[in-house]
Amino acid sequence: MSVLLTLALCAQLHLAKDPTAPVAAAQPAPMTLVAAPYTLPPLPYPFEALEPAVDRETMAVHHGKHHAAFVNNLNQLSAESPELRQGGIEALLPKISKFPPAVRNNLGGHYNHAMFWQVMAPVGKGGKASAALVKAIDQQFGSYAQFQTQFSDAGAKRFGSGWAWLIVLPDGKLAITSTPNQDNPLMDVAEMRGIPVLALDVWEHAYYLKYRNLRGDYIKAWWEVVNWNEVNRRYDAALKAKR
Ligand code: MN
Repeated sequence: MSVLLTLALCAQLHLAKDPTAPVAAAQPAPMTLVAAPYTLPPLPYPFEALEPAVDRETMAVHHGKHHAAFVNNLNQLSAESPELRQGGIEALLPKISKFPPAVRNNLGGHYNHAMFWQVMAPVGKGGKASAALVKAIDQQFGSYAQFQTQFSDAGAKRFGSGWAWLIVLPDGKLAITSTPNQDNPLMDVAEMRGIPVLALDVWEHAYYLKYRNLRGDYIKAWWEVVNWNEVNRRYDAALKAKR
């Protein structure tokens, strides 16, 4: 089967999916997202699992339409760019400046959302920040409360659309940053580069159906559904990657 035909079939499969259909409990997506054909990772919980912080309809559209569009676009772009069909996404992001804006937007969008679904969990299922992470947060930000305020501000003050991030810097320290559009801290175009361990989507599509213009209310409620188990795992992996 030709690559183009395969890609066309993949795109059709994604389009045919009913975004409002319930998603079966799924395994977490693999740590390294493989390049083409790009696939939409299943949500690790049903659409309604994050209520009341994030409503069912928002999750259905966000995952089934927005994230799916990034995946479909990437597969179309891959047909013209052999580099997009090789290696993993984490290898492509640090050289994103060499690609056209469409690749930057869609590759970032795919990576960011795949991570975003993982760093959220139903209320009461996300565990707590590990002792090691709490210690690093205290050292870097003074206290957990100050960390939370700074991170929330990074999301609230991001003008227009973008993301807030907790990252591990090359020296192993934690930092908070934000990126515009679908950029992320793994990209060579990012103001502050590091390995992301927590991500918050502050695009209007992430909250507008329920919260309208009240981004701050969305961010406040979102803390209830942070999956600290996954954040801890990513923090440990980021520190190991430094050695
Ligand atoms: Mn989004």
